[in-house]
Amino acid sequence: MSIDIRAVSLNREGGERLDIKNQDINKIVEQILKEIEEEKTEIKDNKTENSSKGDLGIFPTMDEAIDAACKAQNILQNDYSIEEREELIKAMRNEISMHVDKISRMAYEESGMGRIEDKIIKNNLAINKTPGTEDLRTEAKSGKKGLTILEEAPFGVICAITPVTNPSETIICNSIGMIAACNTVVFNGHPRAKKTSTYVIKVLNQSIIEAGGPANLLTAVAEPTIQTVESCMADDRISMIVATGGPGVVKAALSSGKKAIGAGAGNPPVLVDDTVDLKRAASDIIKGASFDNNLPCTSEKVIVALDSVADELIKHMIDDNAQLIDDTVSLEKIILNDDGSINKDLVGKNAAYILRKAGIKPKCEDLRLVIVDVELDHPFVQEEQLMPVIPLVRAKNFEEAMEIGVQVEHGNRHTAVIHSKNVDNLTAFAKKIETTIYVKNAPSYAGIGAGGEGHTTFTIAGPTGEGLTSARTFTRKRRCVLVDGFSII
Ligand code: NAD
Repeated sequence: MSIDIRAVSLNREGGERLDIKNQDINKIVEQILKEIEEEKTEIKDNKTENSSKGDLGIFPTMDEAIDAACKAQNILQNDYSIEEREELIKAMRNEISMHVDKISRMAYEESGMGRIEDKIIKNNLAINKTPGTEDLRTEAKSGKKGLTILEEAPFGVICAITPVTNPSETIICNSIGMIAACNTVVFNGHPRAKKTSTYVIKVLNQSIIEAGGPANLLTAVAEPTIQTVESCMADDRISMIVATGGPGVVKAALSSGKKAIGAGAGNPPVLVDDTVDLKRAASDIIKGASFDNNLPCTSEKVIVALDSVADELIKHMIDDNAQLIDDTVSLEKIILNDDGSINKDLVGKNAAYILRKAGIKPKCEDLRLVIVDVELDHPFVQEEQLMPVIPLVRAKNFEEAMEIGVQVEHGNRHTAVIHSKNVDNLTAFAKKIETTIYVKNAPSYAGIGAGGEGHTTFTIAGPTGEGLTSARTFTRKRRCVLVDGFSII
């Protein structure tokens, strides 16, 4: 930029003459331009503040992780519009979708659980079917007394705890929903999936920064432990806790004294009555119960079949890709610990692997599911196993089947599945079991949007009642009232 002024005379206050020569003007202009440039850089630096600290959101200590997330939340809330947040989410979806194969393999290798091909489906589901900012609603009520607006405001900084069973999916899903609602997140990934969690957080943060967003919208500590979860939950700067995991972490979150969302364990029963196409029911149960080797909390965990159809159902399952095992004792020896709890080393392992461990020959290498025909009080029925070994319990009639279903679900109010063409049966069981997700005549995963209508989530809040969480779950409802104004009718 150059200004062609040879010399200027200005009259200062009081009449004193000030002569400015061309040289001086150029210097002044240069100085002004420099200052404008510096100001711009400062704004940009503010927006991406503390990007130099931490490693794309990963910090050595919890204190630093929370501090960075607090600063980032301030920037997000003050400097970014809802449209800009949606742009960041778009960038997150685009970038992480390029890493799906890698993170699916990484989660499998690190945790030693599940099936890569199913993890790919789960990750794509989280990326494509988690709602963004479109989930948020503003309501207005107008009348003679004026106008009242109800808005969904951010909570602030959320402490999110994620499970080993869906390490990348939960982080992707929570990140999209929580940022859509203008929060930032301190993640506490499972120690057995820390490499995967860290990788996903870094990719998401990188995509946010490249799209012009602030650094550290998502943070975590490099070495997550139960102690780091505890210190995160207890920190005053955290305003909401979202715990996805087993009963221990949900209880800890609910005892924190803060707003907490608990997404806990389930033990979904699948009822089969005598009105259905048993071949199709058999196929759907195998698909749902063997999905990612039964790791999803929503997967069918116990079959409750009418005695009159149980044998035929088992036959169809065997004709498909399941194997019935009579020698339950050998399975009990390896699946149950001495105290009756589940052997975690077998969680999410392949069916053929589990059989071999029990000294039983699998009928094929790619066996999807093992069935055991047992009584209601069997530990495989009562405990959440998270492995492709499904117990079948027989019921005399539908009334008894419902009672068994309710009993094995243990009041988790999580998920239940039913195969029936009888509308009365479908309705009666829905009323009795009161689960958050109720799937009719399909594999369980239809309930989280895979092959069924509706959005997905990997944080299903049964205990605290938010249900299938989404952006609006992570908001505070606020009311803004204007009296005697804006009433135009
Ligand atoms: P987990 O409870 O062992 O661990 C989950 C997370 O909580 C981990 O990050 C872990 O470090 C932390 N944690 C565990 N105990 C804690 C405690 N006492 N205090 C603080 N933090 C604690 O569960 P998991 O094995 O990782 O995951 C499987 C469990 O999660 C199953 O019970 C499954 O049903 C449940 N789950 C529920 C949902 C849902 O949406 N409802 C989704 C996925 C998994």
